[in-house]
Amino acid sequence: RLSARGLVKRFGSTTALAGVDVDLHNGESLAVMGPSGSGKSTLLHCLAGILPPDAGTVTLDGREVSRLSDRERSLLRRRRYGFVFQFGQLLSELPAIENVALPAMLLGTSRRDATELAGRWLASLGLAGMEGRRPGELSGGQAQRVAVARALITGPAVVFADEPTGALDQATGHDVMRILTETTKAAGASLVVVTHDSQVADWCDRRIEVRDGLVVGATAEVPR
Ligand code: ATP
Ligand code: MG
Repeated sequence: RLSARGLVKRFGSTTALAGVDVDLHNGESLAVMGPSGSGKSTLLHCLAGILPPDAGTVTLDGREVSRLSDRERSLLRRRRYGFVFQFGQLLSELPAIENVALPAMLLGTSRRDATELAGRWLASLGLAGMEGRRPGELSGGQAQRVAVARALITGPAVVFADEPTGALDQATGHDVMRILTETTKAAGASLVVVTHDSQVADWCDRRIEVRDGLVVGATAEVPR
């Protein structure tokens, strides 16, 4: 379970987060909605240990992760989290299969085993035959599927996605969301998705609405 309490984040005179509480149960998917500049990406970055909050805490399964050193937070991200962003996150020089295999190799899996696993992930996401293509040789939707495979290959506890469909047309975006939510759930991971699109948010179990750095609305937590 990922929990945030009283998160505050300032950039100079801008208060991006003004005291946010969030709870994410294991296996649950949460959409973060709200207008541009409301603090959605900042919230995702604080939850994921990319940015340290100025005040408040983030805990993962009861362990406080918001006060870890930069090095410890970077290890935590590599071991426990997966990331999908809007675009441009794949290494353009590497073929799809190496992009997917890389996070596993960084955790110590041999190149051979990581490549085999990456091939299975690509096939299961409908990308068999595209292993050798570089990101520039894939459509936007295909590139996002590669990004989903790359985010999940290490068996993360939580996947964080910031506008994962932002660069796609509506039909492709919904296809990517279906794959992202279904695959993440099947892998037993939780999911946080930042999106402007209410239909994209509909793929998630629950949603919160952020405005001026505060959570102003939420759908009910699923009782469990
Ligand atoms: P969008 O939907 O446009 O992506 P957002 O809800 O993700 O917006 P954030 O990126 O979280 O918004 O930004 C929240 C506020 O914090 C904004 O006023 C933004 O200008 C400011 N901000 C975010 N990151 C930084 C930064 N690195 N330096 C200075 N100000 C920042
Ligand atoms: Mg943003």
